[in-house]
Amino acid sequence: MTSTQILRPYWAGNDRHRRGHLAVSLGRGNAFKVHTLVLEAFECPRPPGKLGLHQDGRPDNNRLSNLYWGTYEDNLRDAVKHGVHHWANKTKCPQDHEYNEENTRMYHGRRYCKACGLERGARAREAKRALALCQTEGCQNLKSPGDRLRYCDSCRDVARERKRVAAAERSRRWYAEHKK
Ligand SMILES: [Zn+2]
Ligand SMILES: [Zn+2]
Repeated sequence: MTSTQILRPYWAGNDRHRRGHLAVSLGRGNAFKVHTLVLEAFECPRPPGKLGLHQDGRPDNNRLSNLYWGTYEDNLRDAVKHGVHHWANKTKCPQDHEYNEENTRMYHGRRYCKACGLERGARAREAKRALALCQTEGCQNLKSPGDRLRYCDSCRDVARERKRVAAAERSRRWYAEHKK
């Protein structure tokens, strides 16, 4: 590229809230973030392990007075302070349950919605119960646990009794026909 080319900044990253950084391209594969360029040009080369950060948390404010070389921890602290941190910024779960103290469970550094957890548990129990339910239409009895029966004990007894009556009827008819 030549020095007369005008650098047209663009938003780096695919953040749909446009919270990414302004970047300029200095040729193919040479994208630089504007704030990093400003710091490098007017402050000093990037110290090892440091990141170019914005004092006010606004990625589009690339004035030198707003920029500094900070650590990864600085970046996290700033992000929380400026309310752009992914978690700190959300107050509701995807199902619109409030992330308040009694509804939030922390697990491996992540937040989980207790209400959603309870609903998931209830659905799982319901599904399990449906599987254990007698297959006779309208019968709400549970099948005996631990076997692959389709019907509950009482429906099975009814079916057995019906079979027994039918068998007795058959043999009664057989005798009636053959003993003439
Ligand atoms: Zn929820
Ligand atoms: Zn039944």
